[in-house]
Amino acid sequence: MAEFGGGGGGGYGRAFGRYAQEDLPKPRITKSLLKRILSYFRPYWKYLALSLFAISVSSLLGLVPPLLTRSMIDTALPGRDLGLLAMLTGASLAATVALGLIDVGSNYLDSWTSSHIIFDIRNAMYRHLEHMSLAFFSIVKPGDIITRMTSDISGIQDVYRTTIVSLARNVAMLLFTAVALFAMDWRLAIIGLVIVPLFAIPTKKVGRVRWKIASQTQAKVQDMNQVVQETLSVSGSTLMKIFGREKDEFGKFEGFNQEATKLQIKESVAGRWFGLVLGVFTTIGPLSIYFFGGMEYIRGTITIGEIVAFVALLARLYGPVVSISNVHIDLTRSLALFERIFDYLDLKQDIADRPDARAAGAFDGRVEFDDVTFSYTGKANVLEGVSFVAEPGTMTALVGPSGAGKTTLTHLIPRLYDTTGGAVRIDGSDVRDLTIASLRSNFGIVMQEPYLFNASVRENLLYAKADATDEEIVAACRAANIHDYIQSLPDGYGTIVGNRGIKLSGGEKQRVSIARVILKDPRIIIMDEATSSLDSLSEQLIQQAMEPLLRGRTSFVIAHRLSTVLSADRILVLDHGRVVESGTHAELLERCGLYKVLYDTQFRAYAGPLELA
Ligand code: ADP
Repeated sequence: MAEFGGGGGGGYGRAFGRYAQEDLPKPRITKSLLKRILSYFRPYWKYLALSLFAISVSSLLGLVPPLLTRSMIDTALPGRDLGLLAMLTGASLAATVALGLIDVGSNYLDSWTSSHIIFDIRNAMYRHLEHMSLAFFSIVKPGDIITRMTSDISGIQDVYRTTIVSLARNVAMLLFTAVALFAMDWRLAIIGLVIVPLFAIPTKKVGRVRWKIASQTQAKVQDMNQVVQETLSVSGSTLMKIFGREKDEFGKFEGFNQEATKLQIKESVAGRWFGLVLGVFTTIGPLSIYFFGGMEYIRGTITIGEIVAFVALLARLYGPVVSISNVHIDLTRSLALFERIFDYLDLKQDIADRPDARAAGAFDGRVEFDDVTFSYTGKANVLEGVSFVAEPGTMTALVGPSGAGKTTLTHLIPRLYDTTGGAVRIDGSDVRDLTIASLRSNFGIVMQEPYLFNASVRENLLYAKADATDEEIVAACRAANIHDYIQSLPDGYGTIVGNRGIKLSGGEKQRVSIARVILKDPRIIIMDEATSSLDSLSEQLIQQAMEPLLRGRTSFVIAHRLSTVLSADRILVLDHGRVVESGTHAELLERCGLYKVLYDTQFRAYAGPLELA
């Protein structure tokens, strides 16, 4: 899907708009689309074949009870043959039971197959999305990912049952039944079949209306999902509460909900009218058989048993006709679902390993920016001509006004984004020549708002190193000055931290995330210091935690505290995406440039009593 590709973030935004508001696009049934869909079924072809076999057997068995009824009425009853009657009744019962058993078995088989197909698709989708770049996640609506990962994929399960399996079942039933009807009496068979188009035409029409309503409903449900995602989360709900927006958000939600409800009602009403039409036609069929068959009976060319069997068989004909007329709609719907899934699977992974990428060993940690330019949108540059070298084991502090490009600069080193121009090199290698996994294994990141999963403290720590021993965990937490605090919690390392670690204070979260990086023991550290002023004890604890974190490693710290800039080997001052000054604290103060202004307005203000002392 070309419009998703192209690497730039802006493209994603445009592409997703089309699903948020409008009806589902009507997919074109192309050979390549069908081929691609079938590729998901291919691993299960044996089960599919078994299912088709079961369908044929069950369709044939279904003919048995009406035919046995004919013999009961025409032979056993007039002949007063109790033995034959008992035998025919028993055989009819046996056929019905066998039919039921086959149906249970094939139902299980179909569930198994369709569940495995969606299992595969869901895995493929997750695997693809987890490798998408940050550009994708910063633009895509969270509700959209959830909808595609859950209801769209589950929709495919229905597709399997309503199209492939049911089509096979219905075609088999239709064929076998029609053959049986013609074999019994071709004139009556023609009468029975004459009304088939009367079914097919309204079915198609109603199906199309329902499809349109269903796709509108889906768009509304997606809107609802988005409101839920955005407002019923820790950050979203905090924002909503603080700004007192509960009423407005509910209004928005209620609006979408109301529209979805109306649409659902509309859809089911369309179904009801359809039911009425069908009901009338379903009665016309048997009535005509009774009438014309009755005339033949009076003339003596047909038996009562045959008429009864004929009507019973005819009932087996109309169900498949209705389903088959709907198959086009179901197929369109399912193709649309597949298209939505393929849209995602086709998203270009703009940050991926080059074919000739090599594994980076353990880095020394020399980081070089060579005339780096970067733009998120392809228009304005966020970084422009940035060049510098950070020697192994040194600490580089990044300072500058908000929006200067500090975070962006750090994100280019582990390839969270790729440069637009110039190159980032580590130990002389362009980062794009290395495999992403080996590159990132050398990195540790402490974010400004550390992200903790809603799991135990231990599990959050193990995220950095799955096989870490308890001793290693404790050593990392001691180094990060958080061990004693964790020990004091009711469940110690087993304490669940809540969504995004809400049960911990900002300083504690920061120290847990520092411990997590210490446990990983990477060569290069990126740290975004918290801008929120912490109490002086927390400041001191974090400062002590940073020391073992940064010692001996190449580090880039987006600095907000005086102590950090004081201990940096070099300070890079960024403004509007350019490095405008660089040097040590003392050198930069002397130049009386932007750094001096920042120092006077920012660092002094953030300096705790300890730092000014
Ligand atoms: P800093 O860390 O110095 O505050 P950033 O690197 O976060 O600055 O941002 C630099 C510029 O890039 C800002 O103008 C910001 O609006 C823009 N920006 C940041 N992230 C994105 C993004 N994901 N998409 C588009 N623009 C972005």
